[in-house]
Amino acid sequence: MVTSVSEKLIPVVDLGGSKIIAALVSYNGEIIAEEHVATLAEQGPNAVIDRMLATLKGVISKANLSLSSPAISRLVIASAGAIDKHNGIVTSSPNLPGWQNITLKETVEKEMGREVLLINDASAAAIGEHRFGAGRGVDNLIYVTVSTGIGGGIITDGKLYTGVSGSAGEIGHMCINLNGPHCSCGNIGCLESLASGKAIAREAQRRITQGTKSLILELAEGEIHNINARIVSDAARRGDTLAIELISQVATYLGIGLVNLVNIFNPEMIIIGGGMSQMGEMLLSPARQIVEERAYRLPAEAVQIVPSELGDYSSILGSVAFLQLDEFNSVR
Ligand SMILES: [Zn+2]
Repeated sequence: MVTSVSEKLIPVVDLGGSKIIAALVSYNGEIIAEEHVATLAEQGPNAVIDRMLATLKGVISKANLSLSSPAISRLVIASAGAIDKHNGIVTSSPNLPGWQNITLKETVEKEMGREVLLINDASAAAIGEHRFGAGRGVDNLIYVTVSTGIGGGIITDGKLYTGVSGSAGEIGHMCINLNGPHCSCGNIGCLESLASGKAIAREAQRRITQGTKSLILELAEGEIHNINARIVSDAARRGDTLAIELISQVATYLGIGLVNLVNIFNPEMIIIGGGMSQMGEMLLSPARQIVEERAYRLPAEAVQIVPSELGDYSSILGSVAFLQLDEFNSVR
């Protein structure tokens, strides 16, 4: 019996700086089996690739299938970092230490015996929200992920805008402050260095070291190095003055980044995802207000700024949509 393309299950990996999600997904976006593990990126590329493949194999056997099964399609990997899509290489990835020119496609194809498609994780998330999430039916949208770092994906006229080298959408590295903090990319004053999870943790640590009293330190069990964005968010919900001030500052910088996107792209929708988006209106309301105050009137009136609908699954489901697009384009 021949299994038609649309009946196949798609093995997908979302490879991020802090966690890996491996899943087996149907063509209509139903997740059949999944597993979430820590990336442990500090162990370097080989260890991360081994862990990623072991997790994916585990997911496939959880569904009582094997890689050689005709019901399994090509693989898709949505990876953090700059992707050379044509050669299947992760050229660099600031949140995956040691990842320079990693031939991920070739390595995984050798190990798994299946063809692999490679895409940037935030690009995949943009496609995911467009096909299955908050952006259904919206053909001009920008997805922004705000987590440890900041990334993004741009959909124009229903298609992912990739740029000439495939690296378009690096929203986190738009320059916001000429004299700002150093960024993981080597530049200074990038949006990521001012409005990411890393940035909020760094600012909290700096202010507390300078003597500001805050519930943040207590929630971090007295250890300044334990402070992260989630702790700052928890402290803000409990009314901590410093935490509220830091989130308002980050939301302002995020708003400035969005003003630039609104003025340049005139999108119908900006979708905010990533771990920091769990701060909800605490982050989104001030950012929306900055857009209202500072962006050009016409595009500012046209844009909706909304939270992601797919949450942790935007890149996974986007990878499925990406494979479908690839198949559609190859038979055209
Ligand atoms: Zn940067």
